[in-house]
Amino acid sequence: MTSPTHPYDPWRDLQETWPDVAVVIEPMGGDLLGELRDGRLIALRAGTSSAQRRCTLTHEIVHLERGLRDCGPWQEREEALVHAEAARRLISLDGLAAAVRSLGGEAPASVVAQCLDVDTDTLTTRLRTLRPPERTRLAELLLGQRELWAVA
Ligand SMILES: [Zn+2]
Repeated sequence: MTSPTHPYDPWRDLQETWPDVAVVIEPMGGDLLGELRDGRLIALRAGTSSAQRRCTLTHEIVHLERGLRDCGPWQEREEALVHAEAARRLISLDGLAAAVRSLGGEAPASVVAQCLDVDTDTLTTRLRTLRPPERTRLAELLLGQRELWAVA
């Protein structure tokens, strides 16, 4: 299941690591994409793409792993950490570099995201939260195309 383009499969992880947690796909109000309820049920928004559901499910799994419920004033920080971890898990550097190379350096982020089977938000989060060694490695992998992706 682990390959450069699919480093992590949240559906399999859920099944193997969290067998008691159920997933439902249902209509949701507002712009909510998913929700973890009582640590036993993950609700995913109906009408979303499989890439979005994959990203949202990963996000909720990271919440499960971290085990934090109400973080009070730290809620926003916790969300950002969870978001970054989900993006890191779903997008490997090799997969990212391979996608950029195959699409050409000028492909818009939405197309690169599609190629990686993630939503655009997850891709931009991954780029924004690259660690310095990862940034260096990505530049190496991309060689001449690095300038275009150094903006992240
Ligand atoms: Zn969250």
